[in-house]
Amino acid sequence: WQARELAKLVFVGHVDHGKSSLIGRLLYDTDSLPDGKFEELKAMSERRGMPLEWSFLLDAFQAERDQAVTIDTTQIQFRTEQRDYTIIDAPGHKEFLKNMVTGAANADAAVLVVDAREGVQEQTRRHGYLLHILGIKQVAVAVNKMDLVDFDEQRFAEVSQEVTHYLNSIGVDPTYIVPISARDGDNMATRSERTPWYDGKTVLDALDSFHVLTIPTEQPLRFPVQDVYKFDDRRLIAGRIESGILRQGDTLLFSPSNKTVRVRSIEAFNRDPNPVEARAGESVSITLDEQLFLERGEIASHEDNAPKLTNVFKGRIFWFGHEPLEAGKTLKMKLATREARVTVQAIDSVIDTDTLASRPAEQVGRNQIAEVVLRSKQVLAVDEFHDIMRTGRFVLIDGYDAVAGGVLSMEGYPDQRRA
Ligand code: GDP
Repeated sequence: WQARELAKLVFVGHVDHGKSSLIGRLLYDTDSLPDGKFEELKAMSERRGMPLEWSFLLDAFQAERDQAVTIDTTQIQFRTEQRDYTIIDAPGHKEFLKNMVTGAANADAAVLVVDAREGVQEQTRRHGYLLHILGIKQVAVAVNKMDLVDFDEQRFAEVSQEVTHYLNSIGVDPTYIVPISARDGDNMATRSERTPWYDGKTVLDALDSFHVLTIPTEQPLRFPVQDVYKFDDRRLIAGRIESGILRQGDTLLFSPSNKTVRVRSIEAFNRDPNPVEARAGESVSITLDEQLFLERGEIASHEDNAPKLTNVFKGRIFWFGHEPLEAGKTLKMKLATREARVTVQAIDSVIDTDTLASRPAEQVGRNQIAEVVLRSKQVLAVDEFHDIMRTGRFVLIDGYDAVAGGVLSMEGYPDQRRA
């Protein structure tokens, strides 16, 4: 018996270009709809005098989800012969971009939907840019509503070129570009006879050919401390290993406190209770050779490959606060298990996702992307996003609300460990 592989997907694209329809159709084509749902959809569409309206499916899921107590119960999933898929949040959901950016879950791949008539639009650009910022490299572009352009090869070529041009300019290389009609199912699960000129993959084949991101065991060890507690007179340090491998007997360096100590034992649950090693993705507790005062928020690493130490750094943020952000504002930052107060020292630039120009600005408006300088009173242990994703991204909180997600860069700022 082997667990089936699970891939996490995000669907992005301009409003009304067909994300919901595409997802609804995928659920149908992969036989993933709950019993009776298809009949319900058909009846509802007929009542409104419409052809099958696939996007109603998502509306129905959304309604269930809004009422659900736990979010997990209505996760949208489908499966192919090859693996299981889960859709991270759903388009149209008001928290969608927020959830995507705050990285509740990392996506393995993205589907960018573009209307064949309209081509690249404002949100196509913004979402594409977010994929780039979030480091999502496996991107399938679905050029949708091909039925409305008579499956014209020429039009498909134009839109493909336009999308590729934009994505390339921001460093994203679309893996596949598929001409589809989400409404009619062309090139979704099966190859369409209406696009004889197309010999690439269907949407499902494209998805199946993506890789599920491997948990980063080959990267440097990062073990953020979640909790320190006493059990049977022993002090246990609990957390989730975000990257790398932790072994019994390893000497660990805790940052930013800069304490080094040897791992006496690893305590795990539900399996070998005292493994000699634990890997990225696992939650474990460890005991140490010495009693140290450690707090939640410290990050354990190996000595020769530690996180950087700093109290000032650059953040590329996506701002979704209702009020514009201005320099001088103090916010709470969450980075791994650490919470710290940070002040926006400067707004370096706001990036216009239409033109990709970055311009100086006094304010960052809702749904804008900006480069800012953040400063904290205390020294923090950080990584750069391009080195280690999981400890190189953060969320900013104002009061109780998440107002931005961002990725961290130390460009221009020294690692204070070496200073
Ligand atoms: P979203 O806002 O991106 O989720 O877009 P929807 O899935 O809600 O679709 C917006 C509109 O486009 C709806 O009226 C759909 O019926 C229509 N639509 C979606 N896909 C197709 C398609 O392949 N062909 C046609 N003709 N209409 C489509």
